[in-house]
Amino acid sequence: MNRIIKGKCVDISSEGKGVVKNNKDIYFVDGLFIGEEADIEVLYQRAGVYFGKVKKLYKLSEHRIQPKCKICTSCGGCQYQQIDYQTQLQYKTKRVEEALKRIGGINTPVLPCIGMDNPYYYRNKIQMPFGKDRKGNVVYGFYRENSHEIIPVKECMIEDKRAASILWDIKELVKEMKIPIYNEDNGKGILRYVLIRTSYHFSELMVVLVTSMMNFPGQRNFVDALIKKHPEITTIVENVNKRHTNVILGQEEKVLYGPGFIKDKILDLTFEISPSSFFQVNPLQVEKLYQNALNLIDFKNKPVVLDAYAGVGTIGLIAARNAKQVISVEINKDASRNAKENAKRNNVNNIEFYCDDASKFIANLDTPLDIVIMDPPRKGSDEVFLSTLLNNKVKQIIYVSCDPETLARDLKYLSSSYQVKYVQPVDMFPMTAHVETIVGLYRK
Ligand code: SAH
Repeated sequence: MNRIIKGKCVDISSEGKGVVKNNKDIYFVDGLFIGEEADIEVLYQRAGVYFGKVKKLYKLSEHRIQPKCKICTSCGGCQYQQIDYQTQLQYKTKRVEEALKRIGGINTPVLPCIGMDNPYYYRNKIQMPFGKDRKGNVVYGFYRENSHEIIPVKECMIEDKRAASILWDIKELVKEMKIPIYNEDNGKGILRYVLIRTSYHFSELMVVLVTSMMNFPGQRNFVDALIKKHPEITTIVENVNKRHTNVILGQEEKVLYGPGFIKDKILDLTFEISPSSFFQVNPLQVEKLYQNALNLIDFKNKPVVLDAYAGVGTIGLIAARNAKQVISVEINKDASRNAKENAKRNNVNNIEFYCDDASKFIANLDTPLDIVIMDPPRKGSDEVFLSTLLNNKVKQIIYVSCDPETLARDLKYLSSSYQVKYVQPVDMFPMTAHVETIVGLYRK
């Protein structure tokens, strides 16, 4: 029997769980928000913290709302659907503020998190595992947290609306045509995942069928039937993943219909997106993110800019239109190749791309830099990269971060020679606890 405790939520953890303190013990509770009181069922303990779920709510936050999604408490993807959007934004601003103070010793005022007008249906990339439920029915959806049980989902509130009916019809066709569903336990069966990528600015939409073998039987009929039902699909790709892993996409690919990619735009530049390309998942907010980051640059002086951790080159390409020169470095080969193609496609000539570790690259770079834009993954940057910035006397750094805690750690390191003058959180992932932050640093 699990233990039950009574408690009051006093804070929100970085993963979006309610924080309850009780006799020196700390509890992280799903779906409990600041000010709320509840009976909490304690489920397990990890790294000195107890994790639990709400058994009975006594006192509700005035900001609590009816979630739009029926499975939001079991799916685990959205931590904040039960709290109103203004409060979500406040939580995110507060998280950045507190991380900067507590970990970084930085007291620069944090601007209010920039939200969306309509914070639903924003994701342009949708990926769903297909499987069978206990009764043998074909299902698709999300894996339950820490498990491989599929929670069926008919419509996800944060994904592009166009995906729902396509997924439903794929399921119906799969049943009709008796295409075997992959079984994770014995490796038998064919269809593993369906990935959908949508374009915001063009009428283009890609379906990727992730299968366990190339050219599955009945493929032609399946593709024809799907296109007939959904003429909005502009390309279908088969991706073969034979490995027994959690990684969704395999290496082998075959275009079954259309060009094999879609295009989308960010601030007037056009990008090609293949099944595996990295591309920001919120097409509206990415423009606000980049615009606010680039507004910090004084382009009148024609700066030389380094775009580090560049992905498919998006920020650097946009900066290049006004800079003297941009140097771009990215470790992933595919992304780096896409970045070069994106430069050609958009006729941007004053940018160079290097596929390398950002730290190694910057440590060996001779070109004097005026501005460094850095957008590292969640684990943040490292001492080699940061100490090179300190030694090279770069005048201005724009740090774009998807993790306030590692951001704060890195800013602390830089704060010996740099002043943090601008901190702007941007909500790229409404309904979830994630927050992106732009920081402007200036040489003291
Ligand atoms: N700036 C891009 C991508 C940011 S995501 C955008 O806005 O879309 C972070 C990127 O850092 C990823 O593309 C990842 O492949 C890359 N990366 C991770 N570690 C790296 C390293 N050590 N050196 C260079 N790039 C790295």
